[in-house]
This record gives sequence, C-alpha cells and structure tokens, in this order.
Amino acid sequence: MRHLTAATLLLCLTCPALAQDEARRPAARRDGPWFGLALPASVSSAAAVKVGPRAVRPVTGVDASSPEFAGAAIKHDVETIVGFARASAREKEIGSGQMWGRIAGFASSDRTVAWAVEQFRRAGISDVKTQPIAQDGKSSLWLPLSWKVTLIGDPAFGAGSNDIVLESALPVGPSTIQGGTMTAPLVYVGTASPAVLRHIDVKGRIAVQLVVPQGHMLFERAAVDSRAEELIKRGAVGVFNLVRLPGNELSRDFSDCGNPCFNIGGRDGLFLESILDRAAQAGVHDTVRVRIDLQTQTYRNLKANNGVAVIGGASDEVIVLNAHVDGWFDGAGDNGDGLAVMVALARHFAKPQNKPQRTLAFVASAGHHTPGINGPRSFLAANPELARKAVMLVNIEHVAQRNFSPARTTSADGYRGAVADSGEAPIAVGVTNNSPFLQELIDAGPARFGVNFISERSTFQSGETGGWASLDVAKVSVMQAPPLYHTTGEVLDVISAPGLERMARFLAWFVASVDRAPRLRINP
Ligand SMILES: [Zn+2]
Repeated sequence: MRHLTAATLLLCLTCPALAQDEARRPAARRDGPWFGLALPASVSSAAAVKVGPRAVRPVTGVDASSPEFAGAAIKHDVETIVGFARASAREKEIGSGQMWGRIAGFASSDRTVAWAVEQFRRAGISDVKTQPIAQDGKSSLWLPLSWKVTLIGDPAFGAGSNDIVLESALPVGPSTIQGGTMTAPLVYVGTASPAVLRHIDVKGRIAVQLVVPQGHMLFERAAVDSRAEELIKRGAVGVFNLVRLPGNELSRDFSDCGNPCFNIGGRDGLFLESILDRAAQAGVHDTVRVRIDLQTQTYRNLKANNGVAVIGGASDEVIVLNAHVDGWFDGAGDNGDGLAVMVALARHFAKPQNKPQRTLAFVASAGHHTPGINGPRSFLAANPELARKAVMLVNIEHVAQRNFSPARTTSADGYRGAVADSGEAPIAVGVTNNSPFLQELIDAGPARFGVNFISERSTFQSGETGGWASLDVAKVSVMQAPPLYHTTGEVLDVISAPGLERMARFLAWFVASVDRAPRLRINP
C-alpha cells in the first residue's frame, strides 16, 4: 500500500475487496461494553501466520544418495527440539509456565544438548562429549515468574465493561514491581518521538507507545529502548510497547526501559489503541487504567552444557560448525531449524563416503540468551587445540522459516491477518573476512540449491557468532531475520521442510568445497 499515490488510494477505496474489509472493521456502538468494540481474542485462538494447504516450493536437483537430508526427516527433528520447549511450559520450568523455552541454565537446554549428543553418537561419531559451562559470577538472568495485565472496567466505557486481561502482555527485562502489584492510568504517546512528547504529560501514567517492526525486532531495539527510557525520565510509571506484528503473540525483546515495561501483542495492542481513542472521544480518557501483577526472579550460578562432536580428517585443520540450542518459547526457527540442519550435516559427514579432508567439529551450543553463559566462548576455552587449528566457523542460525505477507483479510476485530508464502523468508549470509572464494560459493547457492539468499554480500555476524570473536578466521553466519523471532508465533507450522533440505544440501556442498580448498583461499 505504501507505493500507492493518494489518487490511486482514493480510487482503490471504492474497489469491492477493500470496501468489504472496511465493512468488517468494528463500528462504535454507544451502548454495550467497551464502546461496543470486539473484545481481544484469546492468544491461542488463532495462529499468527495462517498456513494454507498449498505446498511449499519443492527441492530441485535432489540427490537420492543422501537420505539424511530429506526435509520431512529434518523437520521431524525440529519437532523433537520444539518438544523440549513445550515440556518447559508444561512442567512450569519457570514460575507459572507463562514463560518457557530452551533456556540455558535449565533442564530444557540440557535436554536439548543431550538429544544432540545422542544423535552425534547414533551417527557413528566416536569423539562426542558434553562439556559443562558455569555462569559467570558477575552475571544474572532475569525472568518473569508470573504476571497479569488487567484493563480495569468502568461503566464510563459502556454498561457491562468488565475487567479484561491482556493475555499477550509480557514484561521486558528487568521489570519489577515493589509489592508485586500496581494500578495506573494509561496515556497514548504514538511513536514517542520528541515532537510528539512535547505535547503530552506522561507523569504518573503508563505510556503506551506504538512499535511497528519493519523486519527483525532486533532492528527496533535501539529506538524502542531509548524512547522507553525517555518516557520514564519524563515521569511515566511504566511503558507498554504495542508491538504491531501478526497475531496476538508474546514477544521477548526490548529491555532496560525502567520499571515496569511490557510488550503487548498485535491484536491486544489494536484493542488498547481503539479503547484509548474512544475514551478520548467520549472525554473519559483519564478513566482508562490497568492493574499489573508481576512476580520475577533473578537467577545466578546457573549451569549449562555444550554438546561437541569431532569427525577427524586426514588434516588436523578444523572447520567448526555451530548451532545454538537455546530459544524463547517454542523457538522452532530460533534455533530449532538451525540445530536440526547441523545434526543432519553431522550424520552426512559421519558416513565413510563423505569423510572430510579436514577435521570437522560440530557444536550444539548452550547459546547466548542467558547472561554469563556463552556456548562459543566456553567451547574455545575448553578446546584450545581445535580452536588453534580452525580455518573457518559456520554458524547456522534461523534458516528455514517460511516467508509471510499481510493477508487480504482481517480478523473479526479488524486486525490484518498474515499468510505464509510458498517459499522461505530471506536469508542473509555474512562472511566476516569477505573472502572472495567463500562469497562466490555463497553466490552460487540460490541457483544451485534454491536457497533464498538475499542479493547482497555481507560481512555481518550474529550475536551467537560474536561469541567466536577470538577465533581469527573466516566466520560465516547463515541467518534469517524473521519478524516473529523471540515471539510465541515462531512455531513448528511455519518451518519449511523443503527449506530445511535446501539449506542442509547447500551447507553440505559449501563445507565440502571449503574442505578441499587451500587455507589461503579461505583466509586470504
Ligand atoms: Zn538465534
């Protein structure tokens, strides 16, 4: 829509499909609860991204001799990995079970590493170990144990306006409330830019700011965090980030805004905006209040593990392959898919016919989400010989989520739907040393394997790759930047089985090509 001129937009408003959408938007009724608006949907009532029956674009040029790369088999492993996160929720690993994941320092992470180690052994690799990690004594992990954000009902919003729980609310770290509960009025601040804030008094209120991610939520962090801090500095007693993403998902991102701060999912966010609008029109905006209940805990002295498998080659030079096991919520794409692809690669290179020249080290890393626990740094400290002989690192992280687009349809509450594409979301590949040889291999990926690499070469590295900083060799990061990462919307259903296979086949070819290349071509 943003490419349309005002004239075409006006024309278009008369076209039937759009007119239908308009009709679906909730109309204000003077009577009835909450200004007659459709109440927010329960968070589990609809998937963030609708996956229709049409099949994903198939894998082309399949080589039947490598059944370990069959997309369905790798996706089955992603399901197993997601299962460790589901168990974390079911068993209430963290407080009430409202927060879950594969969390380094907890059983959910250890179980995932143990599973990877078992897969390495079953693949016939003899040099396999579990290496312990102790959390740095100066670091701690903040986690919310239980919470509830309640919009307080009032007859001023229409008869029968009872309290409503905003189920998609999730506190950002390190929010706390003394005594565990607070009540405050809300004030809408839009994007909270200085031009807006000079007109608004936020003192004593919870500021409600709108966040419209253009991609990866990571890209919004600096702006959201600094604006939230500014709001607190101006006297706000809390901040709500209305995260305009598909669905009504909980999102674990953004931090340090002052206390307490919450992210609110898309559909709850739209409801809250609509209520604040209607209340303003009715002159009762000061009456819109929320009650927040919050229990949190700060964890120290946690313990975690890396799982490491080494396939010895004729040369003792080493290629390291890494995938982090930790993830928030189901984490099917961050990083269930990456870990499953790495395990498939271990199965592949463990076969005698695929034996590499160089030594391959596979690291199922405890990851980088828990402060003071870092899988890569611990690997380097525990395996100085492998580190010294490394020629390249490949970090496999978020690699096979399906792409999605805004749908032509909206939900009953007027919120636009999102629908899965028939291919994967764009994948960026960073090569830290910009080696032309490595870049050319990556350039060949889309045509040869159908992987959806973006068209731009890059030297970027991810947070997980950052843990490998002291390794002074080419570091390759393969990574999607999907908007739903770190949210409850990143579920098994949005992982592409052909996408997993494309990625595994590309990486097998890439690693085999690098394996045969002289060291100077990899690290010129
Ligand atoms: Zn990740």
